[in-house]
Amino acid sequence: MKPIAVVGAGAAGSMIVAELLRRPASSRTGIVWFRGRQHVGRGVAYATSADEHLLNVRSAGLGLHADAPGEFRESVQDHDRRVRASDFLPRRLYGEYLQASVQRSLDHAAARGHAIELIDAEARSLRQESDALVVEDDGGRRHEVAQAVLAVGALPPRTLACVQDDAWRSGRYRSDPWHLPEDLAPPKELLVLGSGLTAVDVILSAAARWPDARMTVLSRHGVLPAQHNDEPAAPSLRQAYLHEALLDTPRVRAWVGHVREALRSEPGVDWRALVDGLRAATPALWASLDATERGRFLRHVRWAWEISRHRMPPATARQIAALRESGRLRLIAGQAEHVSGNGPLTVYWRPRSRRRPERLEVDLAVQATGLDTDVRNTDHALVRQLVDEKYLAADPLGLGVRARENCQVVRPDGTPWPGVHVLGSLLRAEQWECTGLPEIRAGAQRIAAALRVPPPARLLGIVGGHIAQTS
Ligand SMILES: Cc1cc2nc3c(=O)[nH]c(=O)nc-3n(C[C@H](O)[C@H](O)[C@H](O)COP(=O)(O)OP(=O)(O)OC[C@H]3O[C@@H](n4cnc5c(N)ncnc54)[C@H](O)[C@@H]3O)c2cc1C
Repeated sequence: MKPIAVVGAGAAGSMIVAELLRRPASSRTGIVWFRGRQHVGRGVAYATSADEHLLNVRSAGLGLHADAPGEFRESVQDHDRRVRASDFLPRRLYGEYLQASVQRSLDHAAARGHAIELIDAEARSLRQESDALVVEDDGGRRHEVAQAVLAVGALPPRTLACVQDDAWRSGRYRSDPWHLPEDLAPPKELLVLGSGLTAVDVILSAAARWPDARMTVLSRHGVLPAQHNDEPAAPSLRQAYLHEALLDTPRVRAWVGHVREALRSEPGVDWRALVDGLRAATPALWASLDATERGRFLRHVRWAWEISRHRMPPATARQIAALRESGRLRLIAGQAEHVSGNGPLTVYWRPRSRRRPERLEVDLAVQATGLDTDVRNTDHALVRQLVDEKYLAADPLGLGVRARENCQVVRPDGTPWPGVHVLGSLLRAEQWECTGLPEIRAGAQRIAAALRVPPPARLLGIVGGHIAQTS
């Protein structure tokens, strides 16, 4: 039987491969892993080498496998005994941990009879051809597989529509906040569009890289993410009651009322505990909303959810506060309407609740508006092909693709695509919260359980540290 294709080698791709390789030796799983040209396990989040880029969750519970949740923390403690479960560690350490763990899994795999083919190229297309799936990589090679997992992360950022060609061509408007060129002239005035955790990363990097730059952050509400407490808050006693109330009334306005009531009726409870307590119930709650209510959630509540749910570690919040106090960083609430120019950029933006636009002049603008999951209009070659050829059904709200509870892809005609699963950001339409490590890990487990077990196509051995075909 043909192998399983795994497309993408960020955290999600790594977790699915590691999960598949845990199968008993008798299953002799065959995997073709399309890793692109990036370091395994890193993806966008963990490729950073900056120590100021911290995990936004505590180090406890981030192990590669759900049955060894403390493994990451323990691996860091091996080098530094002072590390505590409640610490927020640099993301680079998590990347190192993932990379080393996956390499260990791969090293054990061949000996245990699993067959892995590592492809250092991107998957360009995936098609159903009679009884096989065929993946074509960007070198033009065809790979026949029985099943496939799409773990491609978020889509490449798209430049905001208000950005004019001259601004884009000038190189002073950067729509990809993760890959700012090394040779950018130091800006005196920097504009960051967006104010979520991505913007926080940009601010911290810019503050270190350009000590003379003044920074303006522009977003609709002009609010940065809330801050984690130094220690986790005690759980709410009314959490179960709140879940039930929310599920019973799947309407956004009612939900806001229930949350307010829960906070009122339990004086002293930390709101963070209530928000964190909703994590496990989020997919069910999201599934209970119809399309109209989802639209309402996106328009009115999303920003509040994002800043409450995706919080800054305390150390990060202190750095941001210091920048604001020193006058180097300011926040403004409104919307960019027009960005033009090829020297300094001229930005017209409309302050929140006002009609008249205001004008800003900046040397550099960085778009940090969050992860794009709208597959309807993307440059991602594989996703584009899958949508155009009607293998993937786009969510009408632009939140990703349709899938079943076990992450199996649902086609535009409503039928599941046999053997094809999706993991990570593109599941936003189905699960809402789908990018956090615990959610990805749980998804990897579900998918591994759902995939049939193919025997190996051929026996492989280890060559030059990688597992490769021997015959
Ligand atoms: C800056 C940042 C910080 C974060 N911090 C945290 C955190 O602290 N805690 C937490 O729980 N979550 C965090 N997240 C959420 C994060 O999304 C997940 O933790 C995780 O990294 C997502 O992994 P992924 O594999 O789905 O996507 P990605 O990391 O984007 O990896 C996808 C990979 O697939 C590759 N790829 C794409 N298309 C193809 C193709 N056709 N063929 C081959 N390869 C392809 C891409 O190049 C990429 O390497 C953070 C996210 C970001 C962006």
